[in-house]
Amino acid sequence: MMPDWALAVLDPLAVAVGLGFFMALAYAGLVSAREKEPRAVFVSSLLAVILSAPYLLLGLSDLEGRSGVSVGLLLLTGAAGLALVIPSGKKRITEDDTPRGRIDERDIMFSRNLLEPGTARFEEYYAANPEKRAVDDAFRALPGLLAEGSTMYDPYAYAAAGATEATVEYLRPLVEGGVATEPTVTDPVEIMGFIKGWTLKQGAISVGVTELRDYHTYSTVGRGDDYGRPVELDHDYAIAFTTEMSREMVAGAPKASIVMESYQQYLATGAIAIQLAKLIRGLGYSARAHVDGNYRVVCPLVARDAGLGEIGRMGLLMTPELGPRVRLAVVTTEMPLVADERSLDYTMIDFCARCKKCAEICPAQAIPSGDREMIDGVRRWQIDQEACFTLWCQIGTDCGRCVSVCPYSHPNNLLHNLVRLGVRNSSLFRRLAIKADDLFYGKRPPSAELPDWMRMNPIAEDSSS
Ligand code: SF4
Ligand code: SF4
Repeated sequence: MMPDWALAVLDPLAVAVGLGFFMALAYAGLVSAREKEPRAVFVSSLLAVILSAPYLLLGLSDLEGRSGVSVGLLLLTGAAGLALVIPSGKKRITEDDTPRGRIDERDIMFSRNLLEPGTARFEEYYAANPEKRAVDDAFRALPGLLAEGSTMYDPYAYAAAGATEATVEYLRPLVEGGVATEPTVTDPVEIMGFIKGWTLKQGAISVGVTELRDYHTYSTVGRGDDYGRPVELDHDYAIAFTTEMSREMVAGAPKASIVMESYQQYLATGAIAIQLAKLIRGLGYSARAHVDGNYRVVCPLVARDAGLGEIGRMGLLMTPELGPRVRLAVVTTEMPLVADERSLDYTMIDFCARCKKCAEICPAQAIPSGDREMIDGVRRWQIDQEACFTLWCQIGTDCGRCVSVCPYSHPNNLLHNLVRLGVRNSSLFRRLAIKADDLFYGKRPPSAELPDWMRMNPIAEDSSS
């Protein structure tokens, strides 16, 4: 028989825990409603009732023998809570994942897509790479990106994306320029603080600096007038930064909202990078911006080494704040800077190893679902870039289903940041978070409806149904 004083403690405690569950899940439901996630609203509401009910019943009732059940339930709850918050599986990445060679830009799909049949460039490329001819002919036979006849065809959205892409094109020749004055910066820490602050003020979400390494640069230029020339970049540092892709536009992937947003963020990152490079040149140091369609560096590798995240299963940079739902640009320079430390966050790799949501949803089956493999001396995942790009040419957009369903892509707010904190802290929490993401958002989340203002276009509605 439990003494009266114990019951006097147990009953309010049970009520407090029950109310805690109820309020936390009600809050999750409200946030989900704001995020237009109907399934998450339903699950949160249901769990708010189911999880809080036993505690409230025990705490508020006069049931005979309830004290034993209360003790058991509260002990179980405490143990489960403790198990979830005790740090575990937080080891740092220790294995050497330095790429052994440099990537030839001519081999990436964007470069191969620009090859025109009948030109010397085309003949030379396939003479040197005959094994790529059949797969490339296959994507060339399809409508192509932003083309009429593609399955996601949406005339207004394609026109808008095309307009943004054309604006990005204006930026491409502006990546370099002369250095007019003698070097003026004497304090690398001071200028670094200014550059980071200015970049964030212009809309970047994260900024980092790394020393420029050999494997950061392409071996050979694959686009533009310098096609086929070796990449020579005589710079010591690289500044990488990210901008956020709108959750609303990404959630509609693979419909046309995704390609509008991709180009929009290429424009945003490009405009920041070009100004930043110009600023540095104005201080007397050579600097080059690396923007969409005019890169000399492999941006995800630079960003990883600058401490902005890790490379995940889908081969993209996974940032702690927004996962892969970002776009990147880089500025390289000779100006003396202070390099940031790479984050070496193993928890993202561990999460990707267990999650596999992107691999399961990818309509082109381009993302591997197994463990990381040794590729060119580095353990990593490698996507099938040909399968991915061929799908883009069929649907007309850059797809982005992998980015839209990634659990790390949820908005950067208190609710999801608490989950991110738990994911970083404990391997048990990571396992639970993967299951919870499936429960709240679906194992195969449906593509969201386009924003209202886009759905006023009847053709867009037809293609997305
Ligand atoms: S969906 Fe899952 S496996 Fe894919 S990148 Fe995101 S966290 Fe990793
Ligand atoms: S963009 Fe689409 S096709 Fe490409 S890897 Fe992601 S889900 Fe697959």
